[in-house]
Amino acid sequence: MATANEEALDASVRHQIGILRYSSSVVRKVVSLLNKVDDRLVNEIARRGVGDQGFTQRRLELLLDSVRAIIAEAYGKATTALNDELKDLSTYERDFQLNMLGRSIPVRFDFIKPTSAQLYAAVTARPFNGLLLRDWYKDLEAGAYRRLRDSIRMGYVEGRTTDQIVRDIRGTRAQRYKDGILEISRRGAEATVRTAINHTATVARNETYKANSDVIKGVVWVATLDHRTTAVCRGRDGKVYPLDSGPRPPAHINCRSSTAPVLKSWKEMGINLKEAPEGTRASMDGQVPASMTYSDWLRKQPKEVQDDILGVAKAKLFRSGGLTLDRFVDAKGHEYTLAELAKRESEAFAKAGIDR
Ligand SMILES: [Zn+2]
Repeated sequence: MATANEEALDASVRHQIGILRYSSSVVRKVVSLLNKVDDRLVNEIARRGVGDQGFTQRRLELLLDSVRAIIAEAYGKATTALNDELKDLSTYERDFQLNMLGRSIPVRFDFIKPTSAQLYAAVTARPFNGLLLRDWYKDLEAGAYRRLRDSIRMGYVEGRTTDQIVRDIRGTRAQRYKDGILEISRRGAEATVRTAINHTATVARNETYKANSDVIKGVVWVATLDHRTTAVCRGRDGKVYPLDSGPRPPAHINCRSSTAPVLKSWKEMGINLKEAPEGTRASMDGQVPASMTYSDWLRKQPKEVQDDILGVAKAKLFRSGGLTLDRFVDAKGHEYTLAELAKRESEAFAKAGIDR
């Protein structure tokens, strides 16, 4: 039978997968809010004819003022939307944790529930990667404006046409707009969203644990162990930290690490083993479960969980084709499509009985 700490770790790993998926959905929401103003920006630049003969320094300054206002409005909307998500997430995380703790501990226990306001206050008061949330927001907006300003100014000074300047900014359709200045800002926003979500979940979780330090003695660092994992997170994986000190994820931008609770033993809770309900005595042993790679963890999950996480075909390759998880991604961490995989891993496809 799994101990309470093993159950909590297992549930925490699965929960982190959910958090990462949620991150992707918030990224889409925030990026689409930012994308909405791209046309406005481009129209403004085109309308004012920055590349025209006789365009003056004075007109350039007016254009930049206008660009600054458009950017401020877009980032205001995007960060407000993100803030709303983070508020909801901190409350959700608390409820998830209390629920999970209730299921992991073999006896009924009255947990203390920090208020949503307390949780969100902690989220905004604690820096991650050296900056507070509001400073991350400021940096994003300032960076987005600065890149546009520099690009427009350079274009003006170098005598580029309006079309060329617009192309520098928006990128080309042939490259799916990945080659424009705006793409850099989009990628920055995406990284900030993902990192802020990890930070928010981690802080809300930790505040919830701190409120229940009668039962919880620390947290264990849980890295997503695959070949994309950074050295710092790999090194911290499985390490236990007290509730009120030590490092916490995110350890870096785009960090996927998480934490799981370490529950006290009966003895550490001040309960004589003989007083503990029979059948639950071995469960609360206070031990930290051995860490395992994500591949090991997924191997132990039921078929439905594997199908859900990998998709049906890839789950088959994982189960019956002999493929470890690192074979599904390239060196940069991008997932191969099924067609790409079929070319690279034809043996595994044959073994799993998948026709391509
Ligand atoms: Zn990390």
